Order: sequence, then C-alpha cells, then structure tokens
Amino acid sequence: MGNMAETIIAANWKMHKTIGQSIEFARSLKDALSKKPVSAAIVIAPPFTSLGALKLELKDSAVLLAGQNMNAVPQGAMTGEISGEMLLDAGCKYCILGHSERRLHFGEDDRLINAKVIAALECGLKPVFCIGEKLAEREAAATLQVISRQLKEGLNKVSAGDIKKIVIAYEPVWAIGTGKTATPQQAQEVHLFIRKFLNEIYGEKEVAGVSLIYGGSVNAENIDSLMAQTEISGVLVGSASLDLASFLRIINFQ
Ligand code: PEP
Repeated sequence: MGNMAETIIAANWKMHKTIGQSIEFARSLKDALSKKPVSAAIVIAPPFTSLGALKLELKDSAVLLAGQNMNAVPQGAMTGEISGEMLLDAGCKYCILGHSERRLHFGEDDRLINAKVIAALECGLKPVFCIGEKLAEREAAATLQVISRQLKEGLNKVSAGDIKKIVIAYEPVWAIGTGKTATPQQAQEVHLFIRKFLNEIYGEKEVAGVSLIYGGSVNAENIDSLMAQTEISGVLVGSASLDLASFLRIINFQ
C-alpha cells in the first residue's frame, strides 16, 4: 500500500458454496465487520446462484458483490450465459474478467476479454481485470512481455476517463491454487511495471487512482508482507476466502 488507490480485498469463491452456505458466511462477516470495521473495500464474488440472496443479506453492510464472469453481449440467445445488466440487477458493483481459469478452461482470449471489459464499463460495472503469466513464460523471462500484451489488448479502446473504474488484478498463473505465492518483491516489481505501462497510455493523473491488486495463493500468513508493498493496493483471494476465519485475518491485514 502507499499510493492513492483504494484498498480492495476481493474474495473469488469460484464454484464453491450453496446459497445457504453463502448466506451463513455473509451473516458472520457482516457481524464481524459491525464489531470491527475495516478501511478496505471488501468484495465477494460468489457463484451466480448466490447473488440474489447475498444482495438481500448484505444490503445494509459495506460488503460489495462481484460477478465471476459475464457475457459481452447485453441480451439474447446465449444459453447458459449471464449479462452485465443481470449482474447489476443481482446487486453487483464489480465483475471479475479474464481470470486465468476462464482463459484456460473456456478458451477466453485477449480480444474476448476486451469485449467484456468494454461491455462491463458500458453498463456501469467495474471490471476486475485479471492478467498474469504462466510458469513457462516466467521461466523464459517473458513475464513483462505477456503482461504488456494482456494490458494492451485487454484494455483496447478503454478511455482515459474509464481507466480509473477498472481494478487490475495481477495473478501469476503459477501461483493460483498452487500454494506458491509470488514473493512480495516479485509482485511489487510487476505492479510497478503495470503502473508505468498505464501511465504512458493514460497519464499519471488518471492512473493514480487505479487499484492494482495481487492474487495467487494469498493467505492469512502472507497477507501482511504482500500489503506492505507500496504498489500492492489489495488482493484477490481464492481458496483462503472460503473459510471465514482466514478471510477475516486477511481483511484485518497489518
Ligand atoms: C484466484 O483464483 O483468483 C486465486 C487467486 O486463487 P487462490 O487464492 O486459491 O490461489
């Protein structure tokens, strides 16, 4: 932490938790926050099926909701898909886009992710735009090249006025769900690169408020050292966000 950007702690529940389990978690989280508020923005991305119930459960709390994905098309014959408008209607303020699991298992490429980023902005959702290199790319010293391509293509046609509505999540693919975290220094280095890259396109003034968050095996043990980095303005947490005690420790980072 250390720049002007908002601190964001986001939970990506992926394909976990029933409606009942989601409500139980949200109720306990709300309870804990009412006793001990935190200054970071807390965002939960539950499965689509839990959104409606969580909208009701969290309506008087500061906890915000996110979709885990959306279609780029606003409506139509898209069996099995969810639009940005539907996410807004279900209480979301954010939508995770370009997650490495979407890129890997569902064939999402930079162009499609860009179409989703633009569609999210058009309907008033804030994209949590995920980028990150694979292990082979890091080993081939191609990390910054991959990050540059993902930023350039994923943010194509995003205006200077819109860049501050986007949260960028740096999630090295080799660190997601593997128990391997990037060292705070590795994450800081890539975040610095991302900020400089964006500065060149949009100008420092517009980019100063963009939150750059880190994701990849974040947990109760490593959160403090990650958040101590000046360019890390928050985290996107997968597995460690499923358990309330560990998530509470993360949002109460020191
Ligand atoms: C994620 O999927 O965004 C993620 C960071 O997962 P995990 O924390 O489990 O590595």
